[in-house]
Amino acid sequence: MKYVLVSGGVISGIGKGIIASSSGLLLKTTGLKVTAIKIDPYLNVDAGTLGPLEHGECFVLKDGGESDLDLGNYERYLNLNLTNENNITTGKIYKAVIERERKGDYIGRTVQVVPHITDAIQDWIQRVARIPVDDSSEEPDVCIIELGGTVGDIESMPFVEALTQFRYKVGKGNLVNIHVSYVPIIHGEEKTKPTQHAIKQMRSAGLIPDLIACRCERALDEATTQKIARSCQVEFKQVVTVRDIETIYQVPLLLEDQGLLHRLREALMLDQLSIPPTLVSKGEDLWKLWKKTVVTKPYLEPVIIALVGKYIALPDSYLSVIKALEHSAMRCNRKLNLCWIDAEHLEDATLKSDPTIYHKAWSQLTVASGCICPGGFGGRGVAGMVKAAKWARECKIPYLGICLGMQVAVIEAAQNLCGYKGATSEEFDANAEHRVVIFMPEGSKEIMGGTMRLGTKATHFQSGSEWSKLRALYGDSSVMEERHRHRYEVNPDYIEELEKVGLNFIGKDETGKRMEVVELKEHPFFVGVQAHPEFTSRVLAPSPTYLGFMAASTGCLDQVIQEIRQQKKQVNGLVNGAEESVHF
Ligand code: GLN
Repeated sequence: MKYVLVSGGVISGIGKGIIASSSGLLLKTTGLKVTAIKIDPYLNVDAGTLGPLEHGECFVLKDGGESDLDLGNYERYLNLNLTNENNITTGKIYKAVIERERKGDYIGRTVQVVPHITDAIQDWIQRVARIPVDDSSEEPDVCIIELGGTVGDIESMPFVEALTQFRYKVGKGNLVNIHVSYVPIIHGEEKTKPTQHAIKQMRSAGLIPDLIACRCERALDEATTQKIARSCQVEFKQVVTVRDIETIYQVPLLLEDQGLLHRLREALMLDQLSIPPTLVSKGEDLWKLWKKTVVTKPYLEPVIIALVGKYIALPDSYLSVIKALEHSAMRCNRKLNLCWIDAEHLEDATLKSDPTIYHKAWSQLTVASGCICPGGFGGRGVAGMVKAAKWARECKIPYLGICLGMQVAVIEAAQNLCGYKGATSEEFDANAEHRVVIFMPEGSKEIMGGTMRLGTKATHFQSGSEWSKLRALYGDSSVMEERHRHRYEVNPDYIEELEKVGLNFIGKDETGKRMEVVELKEHPFFVGVQAHPEFTSRVLAPSPTYLGFMAASTGCLDQVIQEIRQQKKQVNGLVNGAEESVHF
């Protein structure tokens, strides 16, 4: 197993995750099987209890793990399905060590940060790196380890110590450390001091930089690179620049241009590995497709999509949603022009308190070609989302409701089509007369960590739903599988009434009690899903739900559906063809 450790200095939030994912992608293009581990030094066991406005979105994994959003980057770039254990937190490590202590595994000994916590970290990395996470179901060859935060933080010290020991444990040529630093430009001058200090701090903590990736607005002058190399005691070729670039999908190209893959190859002695020729050519194809897909086309026509949400203040709260929209826009040959609308600004209360904001929000919504209401928790902003859903339904604007957004579509129909005044979700008013969305126990309302309905669940398309656009987007199949994260669901007692006014619950769980998909028949595209299909969208394979929404918003839905059907026929043809040749 080879390891690529990506650490950061100077400041956080400069794209360490993208650099880590891009390095993984470059390795994957050589035919290697790549996995990833993200280390978050906070004390929370997982990201499930963190607020989106503080930490950004909570990324949901296939197994229901509630993780840091960087795992989403890995899954999207490397086409992986990671596990809950691929996200290490201080909370998880201490929990595991304390549980062992209580069991008596360390009986008679004093349990300490060094060596018990540091050993637990190393064991965890070595064990999890081996878990198969791609479609080959085989053990990976390379593991990317991203250390969150910046070296020098008190919280990350046990991890830094563990990784210092780990470097020696795995031996020469098996671990390479990319340190991501930041070069600010002050009065036009590239400043190297922060990088020098960061590297000094890193070395004094015991970590050795094999490569320094400098984030900067522009490509560094040669003299600056020289200066960094000299003052940080590395060679010129060990310094790469990651300048600001039009799309983050081009970062792998930028790194490849500067010879990163070559450096990794040398440092990890990759030429000693024998990679099967089929995987080598698969890797080459992947690289060709990637380059073709991410090339910027300045002439693309923009598509305006309104995102009506409640965590607008921090766009990272909707990271996977944005990415899924981007993937779909690329596929539809359009440039995504995302228009952020704070749901509260659409509400009557805002008209009274600040009419300018209210009218601005409405004018933004009304020019959009599609409207998406993403997930969320709590009642703030729901009234505004309900209004947006009503607008989209009545004006036949493509609408996509994700989780809370689906519940909103149901609340809207109950209020305005069934005439249930004040209809709402039990989450927002436990005593409301018409609770059209209720708590359906699978988890708990008292214990908040890891107790929602989480992870991949199957949705069964109901018989008679052959007309459904969503179903066609999933290849006319009878089942779709997507990841979930919610406590509340559509109240089964209201289904009959809601279906009478045109809401078709075309997808349900295997018991038929949980409503998974709602779709309007006489509408260009009005779909609500209880799941979060954004978590399975990939750069080269957009989520069918999002692709459908984007295609409807850009007027190419029929064409996209036709293509999907065509592809399915081809795949079936190939399978049948193969059978035939065996037969003859
Ligand atoms: N708050 C809603 C629920 O718990 C929706 C959750 C979400 O959008 N992820 O069911």
